[in-house]
Amino acid sequence: MAAAVIMSTGLPVGFVQFCKEIWEAPDNKMLSRLGLKVAEDARKSGVCIYTASVRKKNGVLYFLYKYGNAKKLAVYSDLKTKLPGFEAEVISSEDNQNSASQGIVYICPLNRNNVTLIRKLFPYTLPSNHKGKPLTIGLGDRLGAASPGHIRLLAGKNVFPVLAQQSIRELNLTGRTYEDVLESASWAVFQEGYESGYGADGDHLKTAAEVRMALGCGFTMITLDCSEHIDNKAAAYSTEEAETAYCLLPEGQRDLLEKKYLGVDFNITSEYSIRFSRDEFIKAVLIYNKAIEFATDIYNNIIKVCGRDIDFEMSIDETLTSTSPASHFFAARELIDGGVSVTSLAPRFCGEFQKGIDYRGELAEFEREFGMHAEIAKHFGYKLSVHSGSDKFTVFPIIGRLTGGRYHLKTAGTNWLEAVRLITLKNPSLYRRMHSFALENLSEARKYYHISAEPQKIPDIREIADEDLHCLMDKDDSRQVLHITYGLILQAAATDKSLIFRDEIFETIGKYEDEYYKLLIGHIGKHLDCLGVS
Ligand code: ZN
Repeated sequence: MAAAVIMSTGLPVGFVQFCKEIWEAPDNKMLSRLGLKVAEDARKSGVCIYTASVRKKNGVLYFLYKYGNAKKLAVYSDLKTKLPGFEAEVISSEDNQNSASQGIVYICPLNRNNVTLIRKLFPYTLPSNHKGKPLTIGLGDRLGAASPGHIRLLAGKNVFPVLAQQSIRELNLTGRTYEDVLESASWAVFQEGYESGYGADGDHLKTAAEVRMALGCGFTMITLDCSEHIDNKAAAYSTEEAETAYCLLPEGQRDLLEKKYLGVDFNITSEYSIRFSRDEFIKAVLIYNKAIEFATDIYNNIIKVCGRDIDFEMSIDETLTSTSPASHFFAARELIDGGVSVTSLAPRFCGEFQKGIDYRGELAEFEREFGMHAEIAKHFGYKLSVHSGSDKFTVFPIIGRLTGGRYHLKTAGTNWLEAVRLITLKNPSLYRRMHSFALENLSEARKYYHISAEPQKIPDIREIADEDLHCLMDKDDSRQVLHITYGLILQAAATDKSLIFRDEIFETIGKYEDEYYKLLIGHIGKHLDCLGVS
């Protein structure tokens, strides 16, 4: 009977013994040393123990392992009492006829119930805000598979990672929820034994309901997308049109604003000051007035009163024209005067920040304008936030230098593209199918993302050998096509509703996860090098 229990988990009979050996370590030092030794033995029987995850608390041992392609949590105790709450399959040593050991192993799936218990036991698996951390990087993990690679890269570096970062658009396209995104991050942190803290960003949220939802799920950062409240038309108004529209605002409000902004020199640094012309001032009011009201309202009525200290970012980056430094100053001043505590602000910079490829635009102009934005952020004491920050290698040195290493950078799609690169290397047949599907469905994906890729420039995949497929991940056109079709690929279903690619994508990543982590370490590592992060 006994062997059957072990059989049901599929685990080798020595598993209980492995657990017992690690559990017997008298102290933490021995724990990790024994963990390594046992992990070596376990590996021979096909079990991969994540040694960094091994923890002992109140006489109970916890660690993550992978057997086959399934990751599980093992909980071991010598007590015959069931631990509270874990949903688990139980293997006791008595089931194991070869073993003289005593103890019970709980084999726990990585589900919501179990992550809730792990978070209580090990609070470092919960996200936290990043107040006081100069350099923070958003590392959106659309598949919920990349964070361990990011954590391995950041070990020992002075970077606070925002491991959970998804926009509603991404949630819709991947078919995930905020709970799910945060669970993946917690398990990744536990797997890697990473205790230095991480953030969770409800990215590009547009409504009060979305903000409440993200906060309810435990997110620690809110990026409020104010684009729907920005009046893009006003930027193109003639002086006359602008005056007419401006006069529609209540007189009291206009008086207050004029006293505050007209005829005043705002000294940002000893060399740089802002003085609004009437034209500039009126445009700034018309373009940003509603967005500021919206952000102030959301902040004061939802975020400030939620009972936790939340990082608030205002994003005005998804607009048609770039944000002038004067407009940036105006928006920030008004937000702060409206009682908003700003952690970061994302203007739209000049040039193009397209998804998944390098910066396009005039470098000298970028450097000049970015420098002013950086000084304004410093002046108010928040961080400049750079969105669509994947792969912007030519401007990274400027960003690192002009901010003095104090900024927030967001990446996401590039982590998916490294998964695609892994697939080109390890499962070329899957890649070929994804590639054709992406090209066929590109016009649909273009409804959600603006890119300049020209699919006709992508070489015919039938003429590329398997071993050369990975080169497609180094070319802008193919990168962008695979970048923006991720949602369609993940959710593609056959007529019988079975998913065409999803399971095979996860299987491939699971099977070669160490290789995936290495690709991420290399690629995001290149980001850090260019940014000047050591
Ligand atoms: Zn953005």
